[in-house]
Parts: sequence; C-alpha cells; structure tokens
Amino acid sequence: MQIKALLFDFGDTLIRTDKFDYDLCLRKVHESLANDNVTMPYEEFKRIYFDVRNRLYKETEHSLREPEFRLRITETLKHFSYSFKQEDAVIVRSADAFADAFMLMMQMEPYVPKLLQQLKTEDKYKIGIVSNFAHPTTPLKKTLERFDIAKYFDALIISGEVGWRKPSPKIFKKALQTLNVKASETVFIGDSPHHDIEGAKKIGMKTILVKKASINEDEKLGNPDKRITTLEELPKALSELF
Ligand SMILES: [Mg+2]
Repeated sequence: MQIKALLFDFGDTLIRTDKFDYDLCLRKVHESLANDNVTMPYEEFKRIYFDVRNRLYKETEHSLREPEFRLRITETLKHFSYSFKQEDAVIVRSADAFADAFMLMMQMEPYVPKLLQQLKTEDKYKIGIVSNFAHPTTPLKKTLERFDIAKYFDALIISGEVGWRKPSPKIFKKALQTLNVKASETVFIGDSPHHDIEGAKKIGMKTILVKKASINEDEKLGNPDKRITTLEELPKALSELF
C-alpha cells in the first residue's frame, strides 16, 4: 500500500506551545471588549470565563462537538448583563484578539520547515493539518505564514470550523474528503494518544506518535504503528511503515 497523504496534529506536534500564557490571552480579550465599551473588572471576568469554559467542556466531552470560542465570551458576558450574539463584531474582535495572542506564543523547531520542504519535494504526499482549536482557520493560517510553511499544506482542518473535535471520526473524515484520499493510504502524526492516535486508528489510518517524554500507562492506550521522539525521525518511520 502506498502512502498518499500525511495528516499532522498542530499543537506540540508541528509547533511548540510551552510558552502559552492563558492569562495574557484572556487579558487581550478583556482589553478588546473594553475598547468596545464592554467593561467589567478583569479578575471577575477571568473567574466567570473559566466557569463557563469548564461547563462547556463538560457538555461536549462526550458529544465531541466543538462550539466556537466566541460562545465562551457571549456566555461569560451574560453574567455581566451584556447580551451579545456570537456573530456580533465586538465578540468576533475579542475572540480574534485571543487567537492572535495565542498564536504569537507558538514556537517552531528549526527542523520542521526543512522536513516539510523535504516531504513536499518528494511529491508523493498530500499534506494536511487536523487541529483541535475552537477558532476559525485564519489565525492558524497567519501562524503558518509567519513560519513560512503555509505553502506546504493542501488542507487545514480545524475543529472550530468543522464543529467536531478529535477523536471524533467526523473531523478525520472531513480531512480525507478534502484531500480526496482513503484512510488506508493516510498516515496521522500527532502527540496525543487519545485525540490523535486512537481517533485516527479508529477510522483506519496508520499512526505515528511523536512524544519526547517517557510514556505512561494511559499513553500506551494509543497503540500507534510507530513511535518517534521528534519529527526529525519521521522520514525513516514513514519508510518503515509499509
Ligand atoms: Mg497536540
């Protein structure tokens, strides 16, 4: 069987997120709202935001739906007697402020662009990203452009746009449909045994787990076809898969 497509997870697979500062991102939301005259004390806003977020997480834990990030903001603002719709410009601006700040904190290992270039030059694979991210595709696209790697991707599949999160088969199927390939000729590469590996395996893809740290019992559940410690080992792992 020939591999026709490579699908990558984004966070902690293609990109490093260890500099992520949630508080700073939320402050950007708060600041954006204040610029639109929607005001409340920051600490209270933050507390309510996390209550809302945790409630939404709980609600969607089993359904694997991905409500847009904007819903968290409109629900938080209700507590302060503001009633907005998710599509209102004030809400869109504040959600964008979060996503932009979040994406600026991303870092990329220098070997990642080289690897993607090499894979693209071989001209054997369609390449895509499948990411759990409760935002539209734009901030992700901007980040890929910042690292000059946007040109290597044939598809960007984001849970915030699809409406379903990994490990739901729906988001993996959307990626296959977009790239016009079968699961059996696709390899999924990611760092989460549950979201990436189990999800991709369930619909028949080959899987490669990228993980530096020692693996614990939970992580073993993913049972990937291959395990590598950095993406630098990917070409070799791919050559050994079939
Ligand atoms: Mg990840």
